[in-house]
Amino acid sequence: MGTLAVVAIGGNSITKAGQRGTIPEQFANAKETSRHIADMIARGYDVVVTHGNGPQVGNILLRAELATTVLPPLPLDTCGADSQGGMGYMIQQVLGAELRARGVDRTVVTVVTQTVVDRADPAFASPSKPIGPFYTQEEAERKELEEGWNVVEDANRGWRRVVPSPMPTRVVEADAIKALLAAGCVVIGVGGGGIPVVEEDGKLRGVEAVIDKDHASRLLANDIGADLLIISTDVERVALNFGAENQTWLRELTVDSARRYHEEGHFPAGSMGPKILAGVAFIEGGGDEVIITNPESIGRALDGETGTRITRQVSGA
Ligand code: ADP
Ligand code: MG
Repeated sequence: MGTLAVVAIGGNSITKAGQRGTIPEQFANAKETSRHIADMIARGYDVVVTHGNGPQVGNILLRAELATTVLPPLPLDTCGADSQGGMGYMIQQVLGAELRARGVDRTVVTVVTQTVVDRADPAFASPSKPIGPFYTQEEAERKELEEGWNVVEDANRGWRRVVPSPMPTRVVEADAIKALLAAGCVVIGVGGGGIPVVEEDGKLRGVEAVIDKDHASRLLANDIGADLLIISTDVERVALNFGAENQTWLRELTVDSARRYHEEGHFPAGSMGPKILAGVAFIEGGGDEVIITNPESIGRALDGETGTRITRQVSGA
């Protein structure tokens, strides 16, 4: 096999900010991102694609909400599974076409993936991740009472349900993903961070939670022995003092400097923070290199021309 890379793409690269998220929009965005992944595969990389699902699962939840008078409710784990299937299907189709256009004959296949979390994870005691539609205070209080939801007021925009975001401990289907790679497939896995499940009496059971896709992607990457983790997002590089006047774009970070800048507050918890921490954990778990960049810069980043790399030590040191 060639270099094995896990490429984690943001849910935003399938539904862009400001879009309604129509299916044609999602296909077009998936195609745009797939071009850059197909280029990589044509260069000889073996690839597992992972993806976020925030906007998509939000729409699934809203659809279920609007249908409550005619249809039974959908638990969150089932919504996550639906989003893995729907998004995986789109990526399979457009990435497959991009590969064929490059003369690469590989099957692209989605693995519905469960990710194990620990019931004792402190996240379960303090649900913090907002999901789904906005509610009025009255509706939110009713949900709290009738459904046992945790709700919070979200910056004057209304009330929202919050769920725990525990750390992933195991990717249940990691061996299946390895076997598919060995058979020459391009694999799509841990969509939306995977369907959160707990292990009880040797059985798996879905839970009402969400898993950060950056952390789940790095766990899978270590499990399958990937060399490279590419975190593809909205920025070409990671910055210090992001958005401030003294902003500095970074070419390279070591595990130590990444951790130090994280402690200094350069990488917020809801966005860049998990990418940096996942990157550090990937290297410490045996990975060689992490690249954080945007989809269109993947090729140039692989050539060392852009992106931010996280390595064990600074290159040349
Ligand atoms: P994704 O959907 O790909 O996970 P996120 O929005 O969660 O994307 O995180 C990526 C975003 O983090 C970037 O688009 C950028 O706006 C923001 N960001 C926060 N801090 C930094 C930083 N220090 N350097 C670069 N981008 C940052
Ligand atoms: Mg994110």
